[in-house]
Amino acid sequence: MDSILELARKESARQHETIRLIASENYVSRDILEVLGTELTNKYSEGYPTKRYYEGQEFTDAIELRAIEAAKRVFGCNYANVQAYSGSPANLAVYFALLNPGDTIMGLNLPSGGHLTHGFKVSITGKWLNSVPYSINPDTHLIDYDEVERLAREHKPKIIISGHSAYPRQIDFERFGKIAKEVGALHMADIAHISGLVATGEHPSPFPHADIVTMTTHKILRGPRGALILTNDEKLAKKIDKAVFPGLQGGPHMNNIAGIAIALEEAMTQSYTTYTQQVKKNIKALGEALMERGYDLFTGGTDNHLVLVDLRPKGIDGDTLGKALIKANIETNKNAIPFDPAPPMKPNGIRLGTPAVTTIGMKEEHMVQIAEFIEQVYQNVDNDQALAEIREEVKQFMNKFSL
Ligand SMILES: *Cc1c(COP(=O)(O)O)cnc(C)c1O
Repeated sequence: MDSILELARKESARQHETIRLIASENYVSRDILEVLGTELTNKYSEGYPTKRYYEGQEFTDAIELRAIEAAKRVFGCNYANVQAYSGSPANLAVYFALLNPGDTIMGLNLPSGGHLTHGFKVSITGKWLNSVPYSINPDTHLIDYDEVERLAREHKPKIIISGHSAYPRQIDFERFGKIAKEVGALHMADIAHISGLVATGEHPSPFPHADIVTMTTHKILRGPRGALILTNDEKLAKKIDKAVFPGLQGGPHMNNIAGIAIALEEAMTQSYTTYTQQVKKNIKALGEALMERGYDLFTGGTDNHLVLVDLRPKGIDGDTLGKALIKANIETNKNAIPFDPAPPMKPNGIRLGTPAVTTIGMKEEHMVQIAEFIEQVYQNVDNDQALAEIREEVKQFMNKFSL
């Protein structure tokens, strides 16, 4: 039997011989991997820098302060909390800081590309809060800002959430901010998916249009698992800090916070800006190469790092294609097509993103090759022998790229 360490090494090898197109995933740097495996994991640091409940915080304080400073600089704001364990607890902390059970929130519904924590019915956020989801326009598949405004006027939410998990177009944070102001709501922008694009100006910033900005650190931002909660408002910042600790969490994961500090410092470099530009060039190239092969893209394309592929013209569902693709070492995730009656476990779409493949050095020409691999897999969905042959080609292709 493999030891756990051997299993982890196998996962590492798997990631280096697989074309990873899951839009929320990435490869972190060697420095980040190294700091995650340090003795910081042994340390309890409940509280905040200089105000801790345990002794021995000389280095943990320095690390957390560096992470906070970097977060403020990268995203251009005055307050940052870096302790939330991940994106979901970060959003919960905001709700816990500012809402009471039963209060109304408005987020994009999950089938249209929203996140569980934006009020979906099976999530604690849908059960303990009154969730009034907005949707996308059934014809354009774009966010229907007029509907957001109409619902906001009618339901008077306390928080309106912008930012989404499967939305390929630019978000109009200014419009969300105006709607929120008009109805006396706070505007929370959850930029988990596009954080790196915002960091480098490749997507407009939610500031000054959002009161609170949350994000995960492990998607395009290319850090370890964790989250940031940002604001420019001192009162909100105090409430949020209290909600994270002691409201929701105990000791922060200092090894992750150190990794977050490194990721944010990396995000300030010219090479990270170039990276985010290439992520966008790559997804455009991948989307176009797929359209040339008869695939439809939701909204006809993308402004960010992901595309939603509508598989209906190909007569295959996202689950069947995704399972065939992984046999050929191409990693994707199935995704619902809004307004599609297909069941959630057999939706008619897949979601593809280029943050990970761009990190290992891929360019536009490689996207054309990937589209060709995908088409070959589609042509051979039921042919395991052919899929195994494609897998060998994919492994050879991946050999050209390394960190
Ligand atoms: C990924 C994501 C989250 C949650 O992150 P976890 O770290 O998986 O809890 C929250 N909001 C949005 C929009 C996301 O895409």
